[in-house]
Amino acid sequence: MKSIIRILKENDIAPSMQRIKILEYLKNYKTHPTADMIYQALADEMPTLSKTTVYNTLKTFTEKGILMALSLFGNEIRYEYNTQPHIHFQCIKCDKIYDLYNSFDHYNNDLIDGHKITEYHINLKGVCKSCLEKVGD
Ligand SMILES: [Zn+2]
Ligand SMILES: [Zn+2]
Repeated sequence: MKSIIRILKENDIAPSMQRIKILEYLKNYKTHPTADMIYQALADEMPTLSKTTVYNTLKTFTEKGILMALSLFGNEIRYEYNTQPHIHFQCIKCDKIYDLYNSFDHYNNDLIDGHKITEYHINLKGVCKSCLEKVGD
């Protein structure tokens, strides 16, 4: 909790309970939720929370670089706390989104064909490990 308050203060954002809860949710759940999913998850706990607050808070966090806003496979915007470059892999069976790092680490601050890469968004689709294991059942 303390570190979340510190992150908000460092970014000149007043640490209201709603902002703390939204950031805490994204730090705890690495599921790349949409604004709606975040709202649904927190609405019971915080009856005063509105969808507009969630949208505005996510927008502010994204502008400050605290969150990444991702357009993955649909047209929905998804959010995540992890701002390190990585690849997204979505399973076509269970729809789960995985973060992949290995084997592409060398792209960080690297040159590809002489071009300096500062950011990348790579989205892969397929069947995840756990769904592959279920095929035999
Ligand atoms: Zn799967
Ligand atoms: Zn991710």
